[in-house]
Amino acid sequence: MVHLPDAGLDPEATRKLEEYQRQVDAAGSYEDRVVSAKKWFSSRNQRSNPTFRRVRESLTRMCSGAQRCVYCEDSVGDEVEHIQPQDLYPCLVFVWANYVYACGRCNGGKSNKFAVISGDRLVDVTRPRGGPVVPPEPGAPAFLNPRVEDPLRFLDLDLEGTFMVLARDGLPDIDRDRTDFTIETLKLNRDVLLQARATAFGSYRARLHEYVSMRGIATAEEIGRLADSLKAMPHATVWAEMKRQHPFVPDIDELFSRAPEALGW
Ligand SMILES: [Zn+2]
Repeated sequence: MVHLPDAGLDPEATRKLEEYQRQVDAAGSYEDRVVSAKKWFSSRNQRSNPTFRRVRESLTRMCSGAQRCVYCEDSVGDEVEHIQPQDLYPCLVFVWANYVYACGRCNGGKSNKFAVISGDRLVDVTRPRGGPVVPPEPGAPAFLNPRVEDPLRFLDLDLEGTFMVLARDGLPDIDRDRTDFTIETLKLNRDVLLQARATAFGSYRARLHEYVSMRGIATAEEIGRLADSLKAMPHATVWAEMKRQHPFVPDIDELFSRAPEALGW
C-alpha cells in the first residue's frame, strides 16, 4: 500500500456528493443515519449515476497498474470502498476523501472493521454482528489511511525472502499497533499476495535490467516506452521498496547506479 495523491473530483460531482451527505446527516438519530447511509449509498453507487461515474473515473486514476486495488495491489479494484466504514461513520458515507478503489476480497474482508486511537492505546471499534447500533468510541483513526499518510512510513516489505509486509523497526508502540491492525484487517500477508509480490519483484527487476541494457542503444522513444511500461506495472509497493532498499540489495543497487533516473519513477 502506497500513498495516493488525490486525483481530484470535478466540481459538479463534489457538489452532488455534498448534497447526498446532507440528506444522510438530516436523517434523524444515529441509527436512522446508519440505515439511510447504507440504503442511499447502494442506490446511488451505480454506473447509471453520473456522480458515481465521475467518482469511479477519479478513483481509477489513483490506482497502480491496470486499476489494481489500493490495498492488495493485485486484484482489480472496482468497488468504491469507505476507508472509515459507512456502518460506523454515516457522516462520511458520501465524502470523497473517504473513498478508495478496492477489490471485493479486500473490501469484503475489511467490512466494518475499524479501530481508533484513544489516549495512547488502540481501541477496536468494529461493531459485532447483531451488536447495538451506537456511535463508535471517539478517537483518531488507527487504520492506516493511504489518502492522508504514507503507509511506507509504517510498513516494510521483505524483498529478500518472505515478501511479507511488517511494521517497521523502531516505530512507537501506537504506530506499531496501528500497522499490525491494518495488516491483519486486510490480510495483507495472505499466501497469494506473497507469491504475487515475489513475481512482481522479478518482473520489475527484469524490466529495469532491460531498460539499463537498452539505454544508449535504443531511440529516446523506445526508452520512453520501456520506462512507461515499468511505471504501469502493478504492485507499486514492491517498486517503492526497491527504490528505498536498493543500497542493501546488491543487484538492484547496481541497476539503479546505471540508471539513477529510475529512482525518480
Ligand atoms: Zn485487494
